[in-house]
Amino acid sequence: MLTYPPEGHRTDSKRIFFIGSAQGSCNINGASVPLTETKNFAYMVDLKLGENLIKVDIDGETIERTIVGIKSEVEAPVAYAKYYDSFPASQTIKENILKGITVYKDKIEIPLSLAPIYNLEKRNAFHFSLDLSEIKSDLDWIHYVDKKPCIKVYETSTSKLDIHLNKAVKCCEEKWENNNLAIMFRYQKTEPVVCIDPGHGGSHTGSISPKGIFEKDLNLSFVLKLAEELNDLGIENYITRKEDYDISLSQRVNFAKDNNSTFFISLHHNALPDARDPILERGFSCHYFYEHSFDFAEYLAFKLDEFSGIPFSGIYRQNLHVLRENPGMIALLLEMGFLIHPEESDLITSTEFQDKNSKVIAKAIYNFSKELS
Ligand SMILES: [Zn+2]
Repeated sequence: MLTYPPEGHRTDSKRIFFIGSAQGSCNINGASVPLTETKNFAYMVDLKLGENLIKVDIDGETIERTIVGIKSEVEAPVAYAKYYDSFPASQTIKENILKGITVYKDKIEIPLSLAPIYNLEKRNAFHFSLDLSEIKSDLDWIHYVDKKPCIKVYETSTSKLDIHLNKAVKCCEEKWENNNLAIMFRYQKTEPVVCIDPGHGGSHTGSISPKGIFEKDLNLSFVLKLAEELNDLGIENYITRKEDYDISLSQRVNFAKDNNSTFFISLHHNALPDARDPILERGFSCHYFYEHSFDFAEYLAFKLDEFSGIPFSGIYRQNLHVLRENPGMIALLLEMGFLIHPEESDLITSTEFQDKNSKVIAKAIYNFSKELS
């Protein structure tokens, strides 16, 4: 049985496939066609312009097909990421149309008819924007070749693309070749370098527990434990303050940058403004600012929810200085629980809580980095 192509089929392609099945044997234009174990076949036949008479012999019975090779009316804009070999067009009206984007592990490819005028801007190590506004957009598809892509592409407005990466980019290179604009990204090293930041310090005490424990002290003791856990896992780490003194937000950020950190974790214990109910609100929360930190916020939230013993109170996108000014790394601020909550405060000030959760966070950093590499 021959199921494709139909009689009289017209195509601008220089070759065509024949699809069908046979009980014993199949020949196409005298050539023997291999059958699969289940007796199916798919076979490519070259075409010329005009009529092509193809003889298909299946189990001794001959079927004839006339396939017509035609010139396309105008040269079609490049619409396929993969090579499509067609007869030359009778007219050449080349137009640049953005039809599709292919996304690989470390590059994106945009097929176009002509070399484009474009502007690629680095917003931060994880975020680029590509302005192709000289090009007409008719974006049909974005093809992610990897199951877990490191790169995500969004069309933010006509012919403007946002490129988000989940690994920090060291540098990138652009190339126009074979009707493809390729943008290749080289990533920074993937071994984590963690800057941990105990919130407040010195005259800034932060919140206070019903038993009079200052947040600044609790943050510090937690962070010192976290550093030990990171050391045990062989993860390079730095602490913004190791004792009780004042340190500004920009000093914390600069310290993280100076040590080439890939993670920044600011550790806090929460309180509430006066008008809110201190009994109702409790639990831990993860705060991020840039999109590239969301995945780790979510990952960590799952781990803490499973092991911390306190409720999950949310992931927040929040415009905080230490997050906003740290665009080159995965930056989170963690509120480990409510220090003013009459029950939760006893739990979160206990050594067991700090021991357990410093392990959870260190392991989460370790495993998340492994997944990234
Ligand atoms: Zn705080």
